[in-house]
Amino acid sequence: MTISTTATATGISDPSSTAASVAIETTSQIADRLERSPVLLEARGLDVTYVTETGEVPACKDIDIELRRGEILGIAGESASGKSTLLNALSRLQRPPAVTSAGSVIFHPSEGGPVDLTALNEDQLRRYRWDSLSIVMQSAMASLNPVMRLETQFIDVIMEHESSMSKDSARQRAGELLEMVGIPSGRLRSYSYQLSGGMQQRALIALSLASDPEVVFMDEPTTAVDVVMQRQILSQILQLQATLGFAIVFVTHDLSLLLEISDRIAIMYAGRIVEIGMPEQLYADARHPYTRGLRASFPPLSEPIRRLEGIPGTPPDLLDLPPGCSFAPRCPVAIDICSTQRPQLRDVDGGVSACHLVESDELGQHETAKELGR
Ligand code: ATP
Ligand code: SF4
Ligand code: MG
Repeated sequence: MTISTTATATGISDPSSTAASVAIETTSQIADRLERSPVLLEARGLDVTYVTETGEVPACKDIDIELRRGEILGIAGESASGKSTLLNALSRLQRPPAVTSAGSVIFHPSEGGPVDLTALNEDQLRRYRWDSLSIVMQSAMASLNPVMRLETQFIDVIMEHESSMSKDSARQRAGELLEMVGIPSGRLRSYSYQLSGGMQQRALIALSLASDPEVVFMDEPTTAVDVVMQRQILSQILQLQATLGFAIVFVTHDLSLLLEISDRIAIMYAGRIVEIGMPEQLYADARHPYTRGLRASFPPLSEPIRRLEGIPGTPPDLLDLPPGCSFAPRCPVAIDICSTQRPQLRDVDGGVSACHLVESDELGQHETAKELGR
């Protein structure tokens, strides 16, 4: 958990403004903890394609990533970079026209051997969905059933997970779950439309925890609420995660937010992971020009307001990607090779980065690159 760590190490945030009871860890402590934690989920050579009338859209390409037990893994990138496509592929929520065209998603459950989720059919997946793999989407309104009381929805999920539990016990557990996210258990009798947007989102988070999952996938879970509510919900998520120990894959376009809450962050551009690093490293010395540009595009959550730089240009059309590095047409430090040869991910500073300049170590010396990270 890095919300306080990054605060200590980089001055990104005021720890008192966030989850006060979350333990403080240094970057090396986080690295040690991750090193000791078994792998929970891993994608290897994963490609996801949308098969459309106009062509096959390569929305995720050559994804290699792993999630450790208890880890908070952030995934950031501009709109259309492939974040949700990747999250859906990892959680197997993927629906046509999306197709997993290559690679695997290996889940290592607490009981039993590893299983390739891409090889399972819907019936086989049901065993893991909710039970081990749980999901919180952006819009609680769309996820909660408006014609069922919360109580019914919670009891259904709890009893699906623990079939021997009595309905009364399931009701009591549902009340406890709601209380855990700061909603009085009496609201179990409410319909979702009777709750505020923030309450709906918190109720959905409580529902996602009903089956004691091993990993919770969150796709922009706080985008639809105001900043104050966003802070409250994030704080609650972190406290619950610290108490219950589940892993999180957290997708957002907001890199500043991920710098505060993640153990590690993957940066996506045009369907590929271009950098993976720990928050402190990405904050202080990102090794990919796109990460630097992205960081300069968002106000830090608690630093003084400054002029935001943004990244010039727009992301490429996935059906017509430039040869070489996809970021080259927007990259202020591109060199000749960038327009002809695609950079591979290389180990760097405890993470990975896909940039030709990383190899020659020119990025750190390049004035314009430094400007990008200002
Ligand atoms: P956002 O931040 O806007 O949510 P994202 O990073 O989550 O964006 P995705 O939704 O994963 O991006 O989309 C990745 C690419 O896949 C985009 O180019 C998008 O247009 C394309 N795409 C997504 N859904 C479909 C679909 N159903 N059919 C065809 N293309 C799609
Ligand atoms: Fe920029 Fe070249 Fe690095 Fe791509 S490979 S990010 S174009 S310097
Ligand atoms: Mg998305």
